[in-house]
Amino acid sequence: MASTSLSQPLHLAGIEKRFGPVVAIGGVDLAVEPGEFLTLLGPSGSGKTTLLKIIAGFEVPDRGTVRIGPAEVTHTPPGRRNIGMVFQNYALFPHLTVERNVAFPLSVRRVPRAEIARRVEAALALVELDGYQARMPSQLSGGQQQRVALARAIVFDPGLLLLDEPFGALDRRLRQQLQEEVRRLQRRLGLTAIFVTHDQEEALLMSDRIAVMNGGTIEQLGAPHEIYARPRTVFAAGFIGESNLWRGSVAGTEGGRSLLDLEDQTRMVAAAAPDRGPVTALVRPEHVRLLAEGETADNRRTVAVEEVAYLGQTQKYLLRDGGRSLTAVWPLAGVPVGRVSPGDRVAIGWPAEDVHVIAG
Ligand code: ATP
Repeated sequence: MASTSLSQPLHLAGIEKRFGPVVAIGGVDLAVEPGEFLTLLGPSGSGKTTLLKIIAGFEVPDRGTVRIGPAEVTHTPPGRRNIGMVFQNYALFPHLTVERNVAFPLSVRRVPRAEIARRVEAALALVELDGYQARMPSQLSGGQQQRVALARAIVFDPGLLLLDEPFGALDRRLRQQLQEEVRRLQRRLGLTAIFVTHDQEEALLMSDRIAVMNGGTIEQLGAPHEIYARPRTVFAAGFIGESNLWRGSVAGTEGGRSLLDLEDQTRMVAAAAPDRGPVTALVRPEHVRLLAEGETADNRRTVAVEEVAYLGQTQKYLLRDGGRSLTAVWPLAGVPVGRVSPGDRVAIGWPAEDVHVIAG
């Protein structure tokens, strides 16, 4: 237990998988470092589960190879890949006690009894379930069942841990608690982990890197802050975080900055953009600033306030700018409740540096 040396890298090369006419995976290359927490994030049907099944060995790809550590395992059955797995629906053996559930992978591997007892105890301590050995799964809460599933997945020092929407069935608070626990445990044990979710907040919180999947391919791979700040496609921008997007084209440069002609006949100044061609300009809601009277900005607009939603630390504003809507998020520390209300007209703006330009 708690060995970090067994964690393995994962390499996928040229993975393709069809189900009849459906292309579930359309050519995926991916390298995951030992000890890395990588999330597959994407909408329903984007291929996340299929890719995870190919890594686990429940599906064989039509093309491409899977390597775990030095070994190619593309055609190796799941039981011989040394992978720990946790799924949304716990999948504990209902007729076995907690202790025997967690011991199961060790019994299968014919580990001596005394060592099984020692390892099961250590695994249960790691998921904070000491003293629950004799309980049946039906006597546990959903969160506790998921902790048992996690203990069972790590008890045999797997080279790789796969998690498929493991918190999907839990309520929000429990979900947050388990997210933190799993991440702490994964770091502490130095496990290589592949995590599947369609929840972008969960992906941002937990991952070293995120692979944004769309239509069976990886649309962008990067650290959470990279994908949030510099999405490469409109899909990635829209899928992670909220976005204000304008379609347009590059009109030229001025003083080292780019001028964009937007579809709504207005202009936008951006710090960097391609030389020419169609583009989409992205401004995140927290970068839209409320301007004081007479204050200038690289990009300044006067808008009508349509709706205000109170979110605790911040408020979210729906603003109307000519024919389109804009979203702004302002902290209460800067714009207290009541300062800006529906029906008001206000000046807003943002610097050229906060405009991220996506080609195409
Ligand atoms: P979700 O978030 O809904 O679980 P996902 O991103 O995990 O979606 P997959 O389950 O990998 O997506 O499915 C990818 C595509 O492959 C979908 O179009 C799906 O309908 C199809 N597909 C997956 N498994 C099969 C199967 N066994 N037979 C036929 N089509 C399948």
